[in-house]
Amino acid sequence: MAESCIFCAIAAGEAPAEVVYEDPLTMAFLDIAPLARGHVLVIPRRHVTDLWDLPSDLAGPLMETTVHMADAVNTAFRPGGINLFHSTGAVAGQSVFHVHLHVVPRWPRDRFRPPIVPDRSPDPELAATAARIRAVLDADR
Ligand code: AMP
Ligand code: ZN
Repeated sequence: MAESCIFCAIAAGEAPAEVVYEDPLTMAFLDIAPLARGHVLVIPRRHVTDLWDLPSDLAGPLMETTVHMADAVNTAFRPGGINLFHSTGAVAGQSVFHVHLHVVPRWPRDRFRPPIVPDRSPDPELAATAARIRAVLDADR
């Protein structure tokens, strides 16, 4: 447990939260300041700072719980859709440094907007960008 991590405190039962799901590796609770009704946060129980810190054997359980929560929220509230989002790093908007996925129910004309720039255009540098990522992956093999 990381000192002064609010999500570690929730996982340990030492801070209040509306917990909706728990298993040995993961848990899910309501976001205290929801973007929409049914906004759920999914975390690993143990302290992991962000996506870069996430061990590969926790990635599967974390996503399984996330999908499970998306199903439960859909059955409970029947939103028109769901956005999944995650932020790694303050520059990306991360404010709690214990990795978490946001499950956000979406309804027509709700006020939540995903942090995606709308006026994008095709990039002439796509091939170079892909080559750079592939080079890293190839070097890892
Ligand atoms: P992020 O900005 O992606 O790091 O998301 C952090 C989220 O945690 C925000 O949506 C906060 O509203 C939420 N949050 C912060 N503290 C608590 C808490 N004690 N219980 C539940 N949600 C929290
Ligand atoms: Zn933590």
